[in-house]
Amino acid sequence: MAASSLAGKPRKVIPKILAVIHADGCTGCEACLEVCPVDCIYKVSPTEYPGLQGFCDIDLDRCIGCKHCAQVCPWDAIDMVDTIDVAYHVAVKGGPPEYVAEEWDNLVDAAQRNAEGLLAKKK
Ligand code: SF4
Ligand code: SF4
Repeated sequence: MAASSLAGKPRKVIPKILAVIHADGCTGCEACLEVCPVDCIYKVSPTEYPGLQGFCDIDLDRCIGCKHCAQVCPWDAIDMVDTIDVAYHVAVKGGPPEYVAEEWDNLVDAAQRNAEGLLAKKK
């Protein structure tokens, strides 16, 4: 759990970059989870996807694009991507084949919502 005054507070602006965890490269070590200032990284339970190690994912509606997680990941499993393109990166994030499909609303739709929000602000 990150010790920060930002934790749990709503984000004020949509960042230009967001973090995406590549589930196939993530060991679930939780190093990223410990440094996130807004506590927007969560562990996906391995029991939900038997046969695979646990991995982490990110609530993109709260990520502030600070890069802290990417800087500490020992397996380079986190990419900072342009918010405009984030839905694509989330759709190909890997992990159990059914994971992204089952969590499409929470993952890809959320990513697309962020991209569209950023575009709307540019108009
Ligand atoms: S970029 Fe920052 S806010 Fe976003 S998930 Fe990583 S540590 Fe958290
Ligand atoms: S630091 Fe990297 S390997 Fe560890 S849980 Fe986070 S994304 Fe996964």
